[in-house]
Amino acid sequence: MKIHDVAVVGLGAMGAATLYQLARRGVDVVGIDRFAPPHDQGSSHGDTRITRQAVREGAAYVPLVANSHRIWREIEAELGVSLFEQCGVLIMTSSESPATSHHGMPNFTKNTIRLAQEYGIEHEVLGAPEIRSRFPQFAPVLDNAIGYFEPGGGYVRPEPCIDAQLTLAKRHGAETVTGKVVTELRPDGQNRVISFADGEVAAKKVIVCAGMWSAELLGNPFNQLLRVCRQKLFWFKLAKPSIFLERSPTFILSHGPTDKDLCYGFPPIPGEGSMKVADEQFTVAIDPADLSREIAPEEVEEMFRTQVAGKIDGVTPELVKASVCTYTVTPDFGFIIDRHPGMENVTVVSACSGHGFKHSAAIGEAMAEQHVEGQSRVDLSPFSLKRFGY
Ligand SMILES: Cc1cc2nc3c(=O)[nH]c(=O)nc-3n(C[C@H](O)[C@H](O)[C@H](O)COP(=O)(O)OP(=O)(O)OC[C@H]3O[C@@H](n4cnc5c(N)ncnc54)[C@H](O)[C@@H]3O)c2cc1C
Repeated sequence: MKIHDVAVVGLGAMGAATLYQLARRGVDVVGIDRFAPPHDQGSSHGDTRITRQAVREGAAYVPLVANSHRIWREIEAELGVSLFEQCGVLIMTSSESPATSHHGMPNFTKNTIRLAQEYGIEHEVLGAPEIRSRFPQFAPVLDNAIGYFEPGGGYVRPEPCIDAQLTLAKRHGAETVTGKVVTELRPDGQNRVISFADGEVAAKKVIVCAGMWSAELLGNPFNQLLRVCRQKLFWFKLAKPSIFLERSPTFILSHGPTDKDLCYGFPPIPGEGSMKVADEQFTVAIDPADLSREIAPEEVEEMFRTQVAGKIDGVTPELVKASVCTYTVTPDFGFIIDRHPGMENVTVVSACSGHGFKHSAAIGEAMAEQHVEGQSRVDLSPFSLKRFGY
């Protein structure tokens, strides 16, 4: 059997980026996926993902997102595709309780401002009158609202990003195997054999980017650390073509006293006449095999009532489409990028706790640097398993 240098298991956001970056450095790499990416069965679908440079989730993420922005632009130039829409990002707290958390991070707006100041990231701090006049779709903001506007942020398109990186990876010689569920990573001397139902491949090293299925493939300690949380995405019809909504930045809005009082959304994609809005939940964890992909009418009604009505003007309760997605969450809401403590030659890149897409291109680059040069330019130690005692 041919022994590849590297096998990448899972070709979603992290895996596609890793495959591409390894292949363009001349590494003999094979990628395997249980579906045919880009697909809508994992965590990387739904048209848009927010990106912002002032990453309140931690300073360790700041260089990753900057590198990702550079890489999206490089790929756009090479392939002539559109991946990164720099429409700005507006983060607002319009609540009597400004300490609302996002991704488990309290005081999200204020701490984002602090981080932007510290890192010299271009931004504006807005009060309620400025939010009302510049972004009237959020007119119902309270007088004590505070806003952070970052013109360099916006959104990326997850499916085209994955597609583009897989296209380039193949151009650089990567092999891909799709529609195969990897069931085992068996040691074989110095190598690993990656098994699926009707075949296997072998590699000197395996990088697992299996998203919500990571724990089932990797076992301990990942089955102790990772929780898979079902999330819902909604596209509501616009009341009428609205210049304000079509010029909207991406946004994150805390509007009440609890962590549930938070939604985020995107400018309408031109010509679609709808706005994507979502909330998030970290309390109910599921087994990926039991994931319900249906959205009940009560869930649509609840979403509009609690997160849109009276908060965002110009959006109707009429649902255009909806989708289910998952966050794979660690105990501290951070990433895990590290060697598997119990499987030699296996590295894990995943569990991105619901905020990984904006960093994915750079994570792929860092993994390739680690493999080819022995270490990455971005410090990945904050994402190691050591912080959980492994
Ligand atoms: C609703 C929602 C909103 C989000 N919003 C944002 C946002 O605004 N900004 C942001 O930065 N991030 C956001 N995220 C997070 C981001 O999308 C994820 O962190 C990222 O997409 C995860 O990528 P991944 O590669 O880890 O997982 P995935 O993309 O799910 O990839 C995992 C891949 O592994 C394959 N696989 C799994 N097991 C096996 C196996 N045994 N054999 C073969 N193949 C296997 C799967 O088929 C899949 O293709 C959001 C996530 C969700 C769900």
